[in-house]
Amino acid sequence: MAADLHTHSTFSDGTTTPTRNAELAAHAGLRALALTDHDTTEGWSEAAAGCAAHGLEFVPGLELSTEWDGRSVHLLGFWVDPGHPGLAAECARLRDERFERARRMVGRLVELGLPLSMEAVEARAGRAPIGRPHVAAAMVEAGVVPDLQAAFDRYLAEGRPAYVPKHALDPEQGAHLLIASGGVAVLAHPGPTFPAEHTGRWSREARNTLRLIDRLTAAGLAGLEADHSAHDPATALLWRRVAARRGLLVTGGSDFHGDAKDVKIGQRATDAEGLEALRQRARTGMRAQGGPAW
Ligand code: AMP
Ligand code: MN
Ligand code: MN
Ligand code: MN
Repeated sequence: MAADLHTHSTFSDGTTTPTRNAELAAHAGLRALALTDHDTTEGWSEAAAGCAAHGLEFVPGLELSTEWDGRSVHLLGFWVDPGHPGLAAECARLRDERFERARRMVGRLVELGLPLSMEAVEARAGRAPIGRPHVAAAMVEAGVVPDLQAAFDRYLAEGRPAYVPKHALDPEQGAHLLIASGGVAVLAHPGPTFPAEHTGRWSREARNTLRLIDRLTAAGLAGLEADHSAHDPATALLWRRVAARRGLLVTGGSDFHGDAKDVKIGQRATDAEGLEALRQRARTGMRAQGGPAW
């Protein structure tokens, strides 16, 4: 019986409520479910209630945005204390940063002649920190692109005309923050984050990436998300090897976003043994720091 350790909800850029995620996880036959919304823990109480209603274990998580070498690096944090002042401050800062960035993205789209308003984007985001999928959804609604993917491919993906980076902590600082707040840190979807790694060759980019993984390991990173819905079997194997060589754990998660992505809850998962190892790691970390009683 497995755990899906990477799902999003309407509390960030997913289209389903945490309640619905729990329902889908139960139907998929999972025994545990994590909610890992971008830079927020606000969906936890609803997710915990939904999981309890279905006899599922709830694994509290978030996907923290960090920045390295001009690209976005995502860290999954599990069992963090959401009241930790440093973590709460960084989540609040990211929320503001995301709002200003959305304004700039809308500004660029308007300059390109598209009829889009910040109000329409805010309406799509609701109370969630604004992400590019909200901008993409507002663009679909305005009829300027046929679907979300076209919005990314034409305008919003890195290198496209309306892309605006968001500034965030260095991944090492991000890992420190998640650990300091009593949690464990896992590097999310290394495949799409570091595409140079797909080749498995010792390119300069690949060496740089592995050096970053080494630094993150030294900073206390607990694992790599080798099993992710965007990883083909060869990519998953590659990252399993990277993890094994460093004594890192391996996790699996779907990165479910509801209708925003063609991915199902439980499509990738962490086995019971993997979840226990991660939990053990969280407990050990806490004993060392005398952290919160999660
Ligand atoms: P943001 O956090 O605002 O930079 O948005 C990142 C989110 O947009 C990711 O978590 C995905 O949900 C989605 N996303 C990123 N890149 C793409 C892409 N190329 N195609 C479709 N969705 C994407
Ligand atoms: Mn997302
Ligand atoms: Mn991500
Ligand atoms: Mn995600």
